[in-house]
Amino acid sequence: MEHTLLLNASYEPLKVIDWQRAMTLWAKGLVEIVETHDKTVRAVRFEFKLPSVVRLLRYVKVRRRAQVPFTRANIYARDNYTCQYCMEQKAVDDLTFDHVVPVAHGGTRGWENIVTACVSCNRKKGARTPEEAGMPLRGQPRRPLVMPTLKVSVGMYKQPETWRSWLYWSVELETD
Ligand SMILES: [Zn+2]
Repeated sequence: MEHTLLLNASYEPLKVIDWQRAMTLWAKGLVEIVETHDKTVRAVRFEFKLPSVVRLLRYVKVRRRAQVPFTRANIYARDNYTCQYCMEQKAVDDLTFDHVVPVAHGGTRGWENIVTACVSCNRKKGARTPEEAGMPLRGQPRRPLVMPTLKVSVGMYKQPETWRSWLYWSVELETD
């Protein structure tokens, strides 16, 4: 499944959508195609390249959320895709969530008790507290105050080369 980066009219990246959705927006005259993937799709009478970047023709105002939603993607993003035990940055497939204090020991399910852990650290720690496992955390996990929404949604996808120039500026600069 190929994905498409959706840009605002101002060229700011907004989110990642699937290419079918991008084509629907294009067919409705809402976006222009900025970049394409190499992959083509054959329609009834013609062939077209899948859009990799599209831009809205009308600017949409982006609403900031009052609170960062507690989601898998946001936990990974808060921890910068880094295992909080061995501090190694990993691909999403190698990451899991760890309840710092296991739920069976009274641990809560929330920002303050869940961290990103790699598969092997998670297995090693098992259903023990960091003290019991001898695996101290580097810091106390907290609810993040602000989250660059784009980094969150884009981080989950394999990023094609064509996205890079569009992501370079906005993503890195939005963190503060
Ligand atoms: Zn680890």
